[in-house]
Amino acid sequence: MNVDDCVFCNIANHSISGDIVTENDELIVLKDILPKAPVHLLVLPKDHIPSVNDIKPGHEALMGRMILLAQQMAKQHGVADSGYKLIFNVGKEGGQMVKHMHLHLLGGKQLAE
Ligand code: AMP
Ligand code: ZN
Repeated sequence: MNVDDCVFCNIANHSISGDIVTENDELIVLKDILPKAPVHLLVLPKDHIPSVNDIKPGHEALMGRMILLAQQMAKQHGVADSGYKLIFNVGKEGGQMVKHMHLHLLGGKQLAE
C-alpha cells in the first residue's frame, strides 16, 4: 500500500485532520473516531510500520516508548488506577482494519475479554 493512501500517515503528517491528543517527533496519540469505551485512544508511530509483524530488531526502544506514552495517557485520562487494556490487533483474523501499526488504549468501564 502507498503511504499516501494511509489514513494514519496522513493524520501524522497533518495532511488530513484527526483528533490529536498529543504528539512528538516520533509518536502521535489520536482519539479513536468510533470509541468502544469512554477512553479509547490510539498510540502510533509517525513512520509507516504496517503491523506488529513488521517490527524488527532496532524497534525495541520505539515499542517501549509507545507503551510509556500509553501509560502516561492512561494517567492523564484517569484510568491508570481503575485499569485499562492495551491492544495491538494484527492482520485479518486479529481484526486489524488500519494497516498502520497502532496501540489501542481502552478504559473507563469494565472491559470484556
Ligand atoms: P484496528 O481495527 O485495530 O485496525 O483499529 C483501527 C481503529 O482506528 C478503529 O478503532 C477505528 O475506529 C479507528 N479509526 C479509523 N479511522 C480513524 C480516524 N480517521 N481517526 C481516528 N480513529 C480512526
Ligand atoms: Zn501509514
